[in-house]
Amino acid sequence: MDIKKHIRDIADFPKPGIVFKDITPLMLDADLMNATVAQLIALIPADVKIDKVVAMESRGFFFGTLLAQKLNAGFVPARKKGKLPFETCGAVYALEYGTDEIEIHTDAIKPGENVLIHDDVLATGGTAKAVTEIVNKLGGNIVQCQFLMQLDFLKGEEKVKPHHVKAILHY
Ligand code: AMP
Repeated sequence: MDIKKHIRDIADFPKPGIVFKDITPLMLDADLMNATVAQLIALIPADVKIDKVVAMESRGFFFGTLLAQKLNAGFVPARKKGKLPFETCGAVYALEYGTDEIEIHTDAIKPGENVLIHDDVLATGGTAKAVTEIVNKLGGNIVQCQFLMQLDFLKGEEKVKPHHVKAILHY
């Protein structure tokens, strides 16, 4: 199934100059959703048991929970600062102007657990790098950072290295 055909480009959203990759057309179709999950699962080394899937607010949650269910793993939401109710561990990352902070609950990952990090889009890599820093602080073992889409021209993979970066679609 041609997943790429069902990603909609929205020019100048949420601000001028950004081409937003809209995954809602893809999510309207159950067969496409299933095919997407299967392709994301196929990216993961077959011989590794994933203990936790960490996914980024908010579009990472859509496929992140489905992946966790398929992998028989726990699901961990990574959320913007101030959204999670319990004790958190966070990391700051740079935006075009200023900084932002992303957090996960401190009890979400146990030292030595195998962690899959998932989001819809890898752009500059700032968000993903921040999440790798949090998982590292909590002692998790990052197996892979995987994305539906990787915007190669923004070179986010360089920022997330040395962690393994994979995506099913490249632009
Ligand atoms: P970055 O930290 O620059 O890699 O940005 C990644 C985060 O921003 C992800 O959580 C994406 O959901 C979102 N994002 C960045 N660029 C786009 C885009 N062109 N279309 C849709 N989402 C994007």
